[in-house]
Amino acid sequence: MPTPGSDLPEVARLARDLIRFDTTNFGGGRSRGEREAAEYVGAFLESLGLEPEYYEPIDRRTNVMARVPGRNPDRPALVLHGHLDVVPAVAEDWSVDPFAGEVRDGMLWGRGAVDMKDMDAMILASVADLLRAGERPERDLVLVFFADEENGGIEGSQLVVRDRPEWFAGATEAISEVGGYSISVDDRRAYLLQVGEKALVWIRLVARGRAAHGSSFHPDNAVTRLAEAVAALGRTAWPVTLTDTTTQLVAALGELSGRAGADPDELAGHAGPAAGFLRATLRTTTNPTGLTAGYKHNVIPDRAEALIDVRVLPGTEDAAIADIRRIIGDDVEVEIVHRDIGLEVPFSGDLVDAMVRALGQHDPGTPVIPYLMGGGTDNKALAALGIAGYGFAPLRLPADLDFTGMFHGVDERVPIAALEFGQRVLTDLLRTC
Ligand SMILES: [Zn+2]
Repeated sequence: MPTPGSDLPEVARLARDLIRFDTTNFGGGRSRGEREAAEYVGAFLESLGLEPEYYEPIDRRTNVMARVPGRNPDRPALVLHGHLDVVPAVAEDWSVDPFAGEVRDGMLWGRGAVDMKDMDAMILASVADLLRAGERPERDLVLVFFADEENGGIEGSQLVVRDRPEWFAGATEAISEVGGYSISVDDRRAYLLQVGEKALVWIRLVARGRAAHGSSFHPDNAVTRLAEAVAALGRTAWPVTLTDTTTQLVAALGELSGRAGADPDELAGHAGPAAGFLRATLRTTTNPTGLTAGYKHNVIPDRAEALIDVRVLPGTEDAAIADIRRIIGDDVEVEIVHRDIGLEVPFSGDLVDAMVRALGQHDPGTPVIPYLMGGGTDNKALAALGIAGYGFAPLRLPADLDFTGMFHGVDERVPIAALEFGQRVLTDLLRTC
């Protein structure tokens, strides 16, 4: 009797197997670790005749890489990378066990199905396609699977780049997640190709007051003070500021929706479930994500703290922090917890042309639009080595699937047909780019 899932295509089996390793990253260095997932990937790479190398700078935070020699040694190497960790999943909120890798309704479900064990599997399957057919990619490929991406790569890509720069010898460009998938603008399909990332500034707001009995008359209350600052920042309507990339994005949305010249936010609204995702790319965002204060119902605490996830357009970090200080006033302190650079590369050049061409071969006539991602990826760490990163995990998706909403969301799932599509597109890209 066949085991369940044995009829799955290889790319889906790889993604399913990876989902079954619980590689939850709780942040701040707390993690279940990526070791078993990395060893699984390493064993697959070995089965293709490659020689994987591991780097585990911190116990169980395992990174794995392999180099695939290209046909043309004069061409710079291309990095294909993915991360093996996932954000936590609260099982009660899900329709399925988030770590079972269940297949239902033609889709693979589970934490990481979207972010980004799907692309990890597509990278492995497309390289397997080439090597098993006795072919070689045009350029040297550097395949890297990182730990700790979901905590800014602090125990993953940042350490690999620092301690194993030789892994990336000769590489100039990189391809990874959060781009290459389709959206629908009104009823027209288009692909987003990621050519940049906003910068991130994680801040903590700290309000201080005087501790007192909860029954007292007491205006000097840290919780009240903090709440006012959090509300002011959370409600701030940051203005639209277009970069080279988002200028092209807005023009393309205008053309596709037949509303050229319309307001950028309105145009993003034509992208269905991706609207909020695209609106975030047009401006600074300051989302409160955590609150800490108090320890007893009848004690006024002397301190209250809030975490704010700030994402700004590349190069505007300091200006945004100055704006934030002005918005919250002098009563509340701002601490910078973590910051990382923004990225933006041109939507042009041989690799971009090759990615557009590869999509065109498998979905002819469908436009490809550049965009600047609101979140961040390991491409930020690779930028320190002068490597230009793109988000290109090609997936042809049904119009009604809220794909962008599933990143870090519940019921992450990806159509198996989309994984096979992505495998085909990547295989063609690696052959020719
Ligand atoms: Zn990711």
